[in-house]
Amino acid sequence: MSAEITESELRERVRTLLSEIHPDDPSVDSITFRGAQYDHGLAWVHFPEGLGGLGLSRADQAIVADELGSNAKNITNDLAVNAIGIGMGAPTVLTYGTPDMHERFLRPIFTGEEIWCQMFSEPGAGSDVAGLSSRAVRDGDDWIINGQKVWTSLAHHSTYGMLLVRTDPSLPKHDGMSYFVLDMKAPGVDVRPLHQITGEAEFNEVFFNDVRIPHSMMLGHEGQGWRVAITTLMNERVALAGNSSRRGQGDIAKLVETWQTRRHDYGSSASEVAQRALAQDKVLQTYIEAEMLRITHERAKASMTQGVPGPEGSVGKLMSAELNKKIYEVAMDLLGNDALTYEPGYELRRPGDHAMEGDSTLKHAFLRMRAQSIEGGTSEIMRNILAERVLGLPGDVRNDKDVPWVEIPRSG
Ligand SMILES: Cc1cc2nc3c(=O)[nH]c(=O)nc-3n(C[C@H](O)[C@H](O)[C@H](O)COP(=O)(O)OP(=O)(O)OC[C@H]3O[C@@H](n4cnc5c(N)ncnc54)[C@H](O)[C@@H]3O)c2cc1C
Repeated sequence: MSAEITESELRERVRTLLSEIHPDDPSVDSITFRGAQYDHGLAWVHFPEGLGGLGLSRADQAIVADELGSNAKNITNDLAVNAIGIGMGAPTVLTYGTPDMHERFLRPIFTGEEIWCQMFSEPGAGSDVAGLSSRAVRDGDDWIINGQKVWTSLAHHSTYGMLLVRTDPSLPKHDGMSYFVLDMKAPGVDVRPLHQITGEAEFNEVFFNDVRIPHSMMLGHEGQGWRVAITTLMNERVALAGNSSRRGQGDIAKLVETWQTRRHDYGSSASEVAQRALAQDKVLQTYIEAEMLRITHERAKASMTQGVPGPEGSVGKLMSAELNKKIYEVAMDLLGNDALTYEPGYELRRPGDHAMEGDSTLKHAFLRMRAQSIEGGTSEIMRNILAERVLGLPGDVRNDKDVPWVEIPRSG
């Protein structure tokens, strides 16, 4: 907590906000309430004053969340409002944007009036995103973009996209990229759905055909794209790591609930008693791992201040991805043969179109969690980052690091 604002003063500020405008009032919509929250500096308290913050520590946001949660029911979750915009777009704009960009972009990101997406991955560049091929060529005050992105979550809802492209192919791959904020409705931007194993299309392919983008929409300067992208990625890992703050809540609660209902299904034969004991052990072991992750998050939150999160964010991302996969694997084991059906069916749909209930929610989560160790950087890449940048172990082999991008052999 900053020397200027004590915890009780921060709580008082939240109560003042709620006395002026309350999210449980049926005449107040989420955008209006979140706008007021931003204007009171309570959107992201570690941002500067006037930009939705109070210049406090990142960890202090938990106090705001706690006070809001204790005094209002109708609080919208940042992840549901604008996951990529709030988790990654806002900190990147804050760090590299001009004052005009701060004014223009930050408030509508927080309110959810303008949804953002992230366009880094390409068919030939995912883990090695610095190898990407989409090109931007300067034309007067504009740049002209051609190429393709893939796995672009929420592009179909987005007003703006964070776009990483190659502006100088003669430089080594990390040096020849620049970073833009792209108007997703600009002529030549073509968004096409991609369906996941759940049947849903929450992500897309995005094609650029001579898309014109003003130079003023560049974040950072020409050739600085990799540095800007690292800011986005470090924040992404923190956002994806989640922050389950209460013991036994979140995904692990669903496993415990499944155990509570399924534990009576075992018979009294010696073999079924043994199976039940084994299943109970698995649930307990998973619960212990969830609790270890929760405590790790608490430690990370306590040490978080302002600025760009470091490689330590990869610990939470790695652990939560692997744990969430495990939670639903154990849940499927508990369901036994009942796990073999998938009630929502494989009708291709956009998320939000189809509400899922009961067991089907568990099965949907089981399938969706498979993506967690891929999205935002795979678990193998997280282990590489931790090995190299936290533990100081020797680096991965990178033969193409200093070679001009244009000379690196590639197919297509
Ligand atoms: C649900 C979901 C949402 C996504 N949303 C977005 C989005 O909004 N925007 C966006 O830009 N991208 C998005 N992605 C893409 C994601 O970032 C990439 O899929 C991811 O970085 C992996 O890249 P890739 O798929 O090209 O796999 P590859 O990089 O081809 O990797 C294939 C396999 O090789 C392994 N591997 C690769 N390199 C190494 C190495 N050096 N050491 C050890 N193992 C290695 C990987 O771990 C993986 O197992 C999303 C992905 C998913 C699944």
